[in-house]
Amino acid sequence: MKAYRIHAPHTIKLDEMEAMPVGDNCIKLKNLMCGITPADIAVYDGRVPTKYPIIPLRQCVGFVSEVGANVAGISRGKRVVTYPQASCHSCKACKDGHYSDCEKPLTFGAEEDGFLSDFSVVSADDVYTIPDRISDAEAVFIEHIATALNALSKLNVEKGDQVVIMGATVDGIILAQLAMYYQAVPIMVDMHEDMLALAQKAGVYFTVNAVDDNVVKKILALTGGHMASACAYLTNSQMPLSSAWDYTATRGRVAVIGRNGLNDLNCNVNGMLEKNIDLFTVVDCGKNYSSAINLLANHTVTVDSLYNNVVSFDDVPSAFESLLGDREDNRFKTLIKI
Ligand SMILES: [Zn+2]
Repeated sequence: MKAYRIHAPHTIKLDEMEAMPVGDNCIKLKNLMCGITPADIAVYDGRVPTKYPIIPLRQCVGFVSEVGANVAGISRGKRVVTYPQASCHSCKACKDGHYSDCEKPLTFGAEEDGFLSDFSVVSADDVYTIPDRISDAEAVFIEHIATALNALSKLNVEKGDQVVIMGATVDGIILAQLAMYYQAVPIMVDMHEDMLALAQKAGVYFTVNAVDDNVVKKILALTGGHMASACAYLTNSQMPLSSAWDYTATRGRVAVIGRNGLNDLNCNVNGMLEKNIDLFTVVDCGKNYSSAINLLANHTVTVDSLYNNVVSFDDVPSAFESLLGDREDNRFKTLIKI
């Protein structure tokens, strides 16, 4: 088995490893495609501490090449997508067999070996079967869709709600598509005109450029003087979180989505308190994987314009290095064909 492993910050090497046995309740995957997230880059450059060496990347689609004992419902040859976290198998929920309620889940590619290898062995509980009509590249986005569903559910977004989305990022544009599916009205705020144009292409009518426009004035006009009832703040939006209080109505709701990008957590919360805003965090995809797969299969969400680069397995080291820093291209997703 061949696997890329991070041995130290900025050092990734292709290692020849012994084939792993396929234990009870496990399956072996022939990996087909992986996606790189900002969190993976934070592991690569050492901002997120990890155990070395580690196989990076948590988003993977592969086909089942071997099935261990006691696995039900998954057969050889099926295409599956990985869940981003493994259950710990030691907390109370896991011991009771409720793996999806695990209290200490371990993220693949950061706390557990990930999937940047030709083969992987995983617990059958950590994969979901996908239909043929979802391509490998599309499948890599399922975690993003499931996370966006989790955010909309926490924000309690309903028909007719006006939702400010701070960040025309990959996650922000997916969130906007889902908000429209719920018949809500997304108002996309970003500092980059090209990403706002991409959001418009995805069907978002109202976009606001945070550099050129008076954002508060524009949202005030778009919401008939009320401001938005809900605001989704993407942590990699590069905008200050405190602006979310300005864009949200009194007794509105704000969700902070993602873990990365908030380098400076010093945030003035006066506006949040004055407006009595409910604040939620969204750091995982909740129990939305099956719904996300369904919405992708039905083309409720389209992701074709959200990736700009499919890297070959040989070019992994240079791809990781090129994703460091805030380059324009890095706002799109990079995929790796294995
Ligand atoms: Zn657990």
